[in-house]
Amino acid sequence: MNAKVALLRQDENKTFMHPDTPCSVSGASVARFADIEILRYEIPGFANLPLERKLFIYHLSRAALAGRDITFDQNGRYSLRLRELFEGIYLHYEGERDHEEFRGVEEYLFRLWFSSGIHHHYGSEKFEPQFSRAYLCGLIEAVQVERGELLYFHGRELEELLEVIFNPHLEPRRTVQSGEKDLLQASSANFYDPEVTQQEAEAFYREAYETLTEEERSTPPSLGLNSRLARREDGKLYEQTYRIGGLYEEALSRISAELHAALPYAEGERQRETILALLDYYKTGDLEEYNRCMISWVGDTQTEVDFINGFTEVYTDPLGMKGMWESLVHIRNHEASKRTEKLCREAAWFEKHAPIDERFKKEEPRGVTATVVSVAMLAGDSYPATPIGINLPNADWIRATHGSKSVTIDNIHEAYRGASRHSGMDEVFIPNPEVRALLAKYDNLTDHLHTDLHECLGHGSGRLLPGVSADALGAYHSTLEEARADLFALYYMADEKLIELELLPNHEAYKACYYRYLLNGLVTQLVRIRPGHQLEEAHMRNRALIARYVLEHGEAIGALELRGLELIIHDYAAMRPIIGELLREVQRIKSTGDHEAGRQLVERYAISVDPELHREVLTRYTQLGIAPYKGFVNPRLEPVLEGDKIIDVIAHYDEGYAEQMLRYSREYRTLSTAPISLETLRHPEPSDATLEAAKELRSNLRHSMDGQVASSMRSKGLYYGINFGLTLDYIIRLAEKQPKTEDLASYILSRDVRELKIIGQLIYPPECMTYEKATELALTVSSNPELRDYIAKNLFDRIPESTHWALDWSLCSNVSSRQEILPVAFTVLVRKITKGFIIQPPVWRQRLLNILLDILSDGMVAYPTTQQRTALLLLKRWGREDKAIREQILSSASLSSWRSSESPVLREFADDITFELEEYPSN
Ligand SMILES: [Zn+2]
Repeated sequence: MNAKVALLRQDENKTFMHPDTPCSVSGASVARFADIEILRYEIPGFANLPLERKLFIYHLSRAALAGRDITFDQNGRYSLRLRELFEGIYLHYEGERDHEEFRGVEEYLFRLWFSSGIHHHYGSEKFEPQFSRAYLCGLIEAVQVERGELLYFHGRELEELLEVIFNPHLEPRRTVQSGEKDLLQASSANFYDPEVTQQEAEAFYREAYETLTEEERSTPPSLGLNSRLARREDGKLYEQTYRIGGLYEEALSRISAELHAALPYAEGERQRETILALLDYYKTGDLEEYNRCMISWVGDTQTEVDFINGFTEVYTDPLGMKGMWESLVHIRNHEASKRTEKLCREAAWFEKHAPIDERFKKEEPRGVTATVVSVAMLAGDSYPATPIGINLPNADWIRATHGSKSVTIDNIHEAYRGASRHSGMDEVFIPNPEVRALLAKYDNLTDHLHTDLHECLGHGSGRLLPGVSADALGAYHSTLEEARADLFALYYMADEKLIELELLPNHEAYKACYYRYLLNGLVTQLVRIRPGHQLEEAHMRNRALIARYVLEHGEAIGALELRGLELIIHDYAAMRPIIGELLREVQRIKSTGDHEAGRQLVERYAISVDPELHREVLTRYTQLGIAPYKGFVNPRLEPVLEGDKIIDVIAHYDEGYAEQMLRYSREYRTLSTAPISLETLRHPEPSDATLEAAKELRSNLRHSMDGQVASSMRSKGLYYGINFGLTLDYIIRLAEKQPKTEDLASYILSRDVRELKIIGQLIYPPECMTYEKATELALTVSSNPELRDYIAKNLFDRIPESTHWALDWSLCSNVSSRQEILPVAFTVLVRKITKGFIIQPPVWRQRLLNILLDILSDGMVAYPTTQQRTALLLLKRWGREDKAIREQILSSASLSSWRSSESPVLREFADDITFELEEYPSN
């Protein structure tokens, strides 16, 4: 815990700033907490771009930020709700903040933002809360009672969240990629229903692959990339596809709207095509469409502004199939791009001379482009922690046939260097001053070049043998793929060719790269691992794999040694053949899909941590007080308006970390937990048994149909898709004979048939009902008075928590369809009050009363609205049962103004209320 985490709380407008944030400085520290430091980056040259480029970037950036919630949800099914809970406390708690436990709560939220979830972004282990359960519950209650906020966190729902926070055995790790245990059961990333096993998921996708035709297999879709694998009630698995009309609909709609807005500013036809294909893909979820989009994107190499927006990297999925949502928008850095263009022009030479088997070489490596860029916006899985280079697409066949695109992100690199220059790491871990001098001289240069070689050439080299599946290496794929790219870079770093190309000045420079790389893989990267933990993340594993392999084989010939924590290299030249040999083997494993050899390599070199060494590394490191992880705040892109026309866009570098996160949560909240939640979107497909039961029920209804009653109901304004006109008694008897399963209940509730809806309400198992589901159901019946009354009576009467839900619907402004839900909320409250429920505490009473009076005060209507009718009913019932409220109503300014109003509707309200409350008080 660092003192810098304390933020100034300026005013009610919630401006949080790091007290000593220097503005507009690349690499400047914005916040420091846990093992993390937040830096600022700049977009060089943004101000000088032509307006159309700025507008393009502006809309693409908004499309990027609109997907933020998806990443949170993919990281864990509790992330969004916990974010909302902690943000609510952070914003609304009015008690003592200068308190150790409160700082623990604050730090938890800061980390949650940073990880887009509750697990460490790198190590994947769950956060340990630095505050007690009792303390947190106290904060929640204070915020609820004093501020009327966060009311929807209570009862079973809250209990579940508290368990997730405090029970270390629940959701302990986000991603577990190896080990004896079932990987899906051990991982809590939200790509599979909780009880789906690894074996089942693997079988599901094996089967999906087998059903592809021979032709489809030559250009295969990335199976499973854009979906969550769920289970139906009858046990069968099915995919919940990320698309408009499917999972994450609201976020994808918002992203699509911004992409549409960006379309007119695209640089040329090719880029337009890419955006259109992406829009189709988000609409349909069709992976063929995604391939089309990527092919078009890869071919588009000339534009100044480019972007990534989609379900991309698969590291978070223990099975390496599901893509995390991410987005970056970037601008070409013309000067620096020349460096990588040089490499790309020589791609064929590098492929030809690679120390790998001829069978595994790409015949004509083509389209490998690499560009040096500056990012203008980071989002989703790339924010706030971000990569410094990107190489896409991931599909091997597209890379082989259409090429790939690679970027090195220079302004992020620059910010990192700015921050680390004076950290003191080298003084501690490199005792030999000569080595330090070597690094000081060449580090910068070789660091760039290594990234370029890795991204531009490494990932793009080699090929799979025909018939080998891209997923053949399963959980080991990510580590081995990164190792392959790094090995390629390391091998060529020591090559004459780089001097010839004038990318390196001499035969000394590569040594800086070798020393730095090996020291990192063997020693310094361990500062990011907590005591007792293993290496989990693919890039870290890859570095350990290479460094330990080289150490083992180099030590045997006296080329290098690790003495304590000191790396001593005696013979740099001797290491290159070892690197070449390992590259040859890793390429063979990939090209032939040799899962077993891949597994052995990774398990042997890449996972375990020597506890002795680790302890020593941590001890020295702690003394330095550096944050091992860095992340970034984005610039704030502000449009300058003239009328409603944007005439300029300005990049501001003034936002603090919490400030930015809270703004994003406010402005880009797409998948919030209320009112239509993720859970409700995940309605399973009905099982066969359910479909059968529903069919029988329907034929039963048809036989007893009473057409006359139905048409008389219609004439009274009760509309149903289908109405069999049956009496409530008959319906109740029919309901008694049905299985009381949630599957059947939610299925028939979703049909537009009056009797099925009523039966659904009657048979719904109360223990399965949640706030989200209740909200969704309430919205579906809100305009139908008959169903509204029935749902209150048949369903909500059986659920004690529903009182809170109804209060929440009435009081909370963050329920987005609040107007529609109010009639149900009021109807439920009428019943609860009649049964003796007393609305407490005083703040809520006052708020509810004001809301009711406000709704009724709108006299501009010819007839009372549904909201008004139900509000009137509630006001009368509440006034009859509660003396204090009665007196308040009768003496209210509203009531007297209605009496003398021009509006007949208001005068009628006044009469009605006065009559009822004065004549029929029940106490
Ligand atoms: Zn890579």
